[in-house]
Amino acid sequence: MKVKDKVAIVTGGGGGLGEGIALCLAKEGAHVVVSDNQLHLAEKVKAKVKDSGRKSLAIETDVSDEAQVKQMVDKTIEAFGGLDIMICCAGISGFVHRGLDSEESLDIENLLVEDWDTTFAVNVKGVFLCNRAAAPIFRKQNSGKIVNISSVGGRGPNDFLLAYATSKAAVIAFTQSMAVHMAPHHVNVNCVCPGIIYTPMWESGSALLVKTHPALKGSGLGPKDALDAMVNSLIPFKNYQTPEDIGKAVAFLSSSEAEEITGQSLNVCGGMAFN
Ligand code: NAD
Repeated sequence: MKVKDKVAIVTGGGGGLGEGIALCLAKEGAHVVVSDNQLHLAEKVKAKVKDSGRKSLAIETDVSDEAQVKQMVDKTIEAFGGLDIMICCAGISGFVHRGLDSEESLDIENLLVEDWDTTFAVNVKGVFLCNRAAAPIFRKQNSGKIVNISSVGGRGPNDFLLAYATSKAAVIAFTQSMAVHMAPHHVNVNCVCPGIIYTPMWESGSALLVKTHPALKGSGLGPKDALDAMVNSLIPFKNYQTPEDIGKAVAFLSSSEAEEITGQSLNVCGGMAFN
């Protein structure tokens, strides 16, 4: 067991990758606080963690809200007496070009300032707030592991996810600075950059893409078929990654096996990205 009896918080833990990460950490021995802005989702994952024999708590938290993030950490300390691992997984796709229909496009003019700000509030400010909330605890105990979930989308340009790709690049840059900042206190801060995992994020995202992306619009492909085609053409291994693939990488980076790894961003993407 890689993280036996460690206490972990997983933000966005109520579904998709967050659920996979929570369950992998539990399998590796951690007690897991499942945090999500949708409490009913967090409760379901909490039950699964408990079924695996580990302790768990579900906490409703919007990661973009400073007071809620502080409360999440305070409640964790109150319930478990400490914190060892902070996983920042909550994120949104930025597939939020409001009101788009088949007549409209993914042109930048249709990306509203409000949607840009919302994407950054969750994906970047949310990561900052959660890292910041864990820092004093980790500094005091002279140990701690932080894993921020970025994306291969943050590794380079993206023609249709401008806000998302930029926000995920910011997560990589923030992780590097945070790693150096926390290094004197023996805290490891790393990133995982997932490839393509078929979660609710992509269910809605692929539906929008087939309606709007120039290469897909009018192709007659259904949302899932279009995404299958993307996976086939973009990923050398030609398969989707799974929440468990991401969970295993996160569990490794959260463990003592990764003691000498900090400030790094690990692609888990079947060879889709290289830097
Ligand atoms: P998802 O939409 O399936 O799940 C996201 C979870 O986060 C949900 O449970 C949701 O309720 C929660 N959430 C959303 N906004 C929140 C907020 N403000 N505060 C707290 N919780 C919030 O998405 P996913 O595909 O599981 O993605 C999870 C993370 O992985 C995101 O950061 C995403 O950018 C990243 N990622 C996903 C993929 C992919 O292919 N699915 C690829 C690369 C990176």
